[in-house]
Amino acid sequence: MQMRCYCVTHHGQPLELVQRETPQPKGTEVLVRVKAAGLCHSDLHIWEGYYDLGGGKKLSLADRGIKLPLTLSHEICGEVVAVGPEAGPEAGDVKAGTMAVVHPWIGCGECTACLRGEENICTKPQSLGVMRDGGFADYVIVPHPRYLVDLGSLDPVQAAPLACAGVTTYSAIKKFGSRIHEDPVVIIGAGGLGMMAIEVLKALGAKGAIVVDVDAAKREAALKEGALAAIDARAPDAVEQVVKATGGGARAVLDLVGATPTVKLALDACTRGGHVVIVGLMGGDITLSLPIIPMRPLRIEGSYVGTLPELRELVALMREGKMQPSPVSSRPLGEINAALEALAQGKVVGRQIMVP
Ligand SMILES: [Zn+2]
Ligand SMILES: [Zn+2]
Repeated sequence: MQMRCYCVTHHGQPLELVQRETPQPKGTEVLVRVKAAGLCHSDLHIWEGYYDLGGGKKLSLADRGIKLPLTLSHEICGEVVAVGPEAGPEAGDVKAGTMAVVHPWIGCGECTACLRGEENICTKPQSLGVMRDGGFADYVIVPHPRYLVDLGSLDPVQAAPLACAGVTTYSAIKKFGSRIHEDPVVIIGAGGLGMMAIEVLKALGAKGAIVVDVDAAKREAALKEGALAAIDARAPDAVEQVVKATGGGARAVLDLVGATPTVKLALDACTRGGHVVIVGLMGGDITLSLPIIPMRPLRIEGSYVGTLPELRELVALMREGKMQPSPVSSRPLGEINAALEALAQGKVVGRQIMVP
């Protein structure tokens, strides 16, 4: 039986429709029929083929071991259709017919990070849609049933973003600890991740979000979603506005863009003891006077996607009705190249979810 996949065959060129034999699950593998696959900003970087390190330097994806052709999408929801012969009792309740969201941040299973349960920071990652084929296809192979989180009656289109946008913002916000209950969190970037971050803060009973974005439509959407304030990142007094909105300077800033001007804004808007978590991979570099770090004192931390237990916590929050889905728009899988183009132009509010 044949299946469709949309692959990156050449960086920067439209994704190519390839017909392939539907794989059969071997060993502990599980075959999942894709019901919904989200299009993420990092898919854009993989498609382009590099990350911008600033100062004219680029980190090529080939250097990270990413090989083409590759089927993108790491935000996958689908139905279990077949389980490999060794998925056995460990497969638990993963039976044919189970609707699940797939944890895509898979490690080697052997290194110290994997053994600690932090497969997301494995040094030999096997992530779906990055190192292995992902969800812009009719079917996807998942290496082990433990990476499937049962959706219950949740809508796969609404749940798909949990696998990246959800777990990434959840893991980053958890790094702020109890201060989310004491002070508003400043969120830079109101795209798919920004909307999700607002929902996560609401689900965790946080004080609230102050959103910063260059785009008026995205600021409007953030306010509708419940943000306390929305500030234009390009306003000449953007820093002063954040300081005012936070009542004297931010204690928690989540930078979902990760570009030179946004990280500068994040650091400038912090009060003493401020904590900046950088998630975005837009790229660039900054020059920072070192005495500032101990004297303010500042905490600058990176956060990369999230762990399987964090995804399970997040799905539980949504299944229990404590968290609302963030805005999504579903499109037929065949429109993937138009969706990619719209995302590249920054014209998308919320998440685009492709449906095979
Ligand atoms: Zn992603
Ligand atoms: Zn590992």
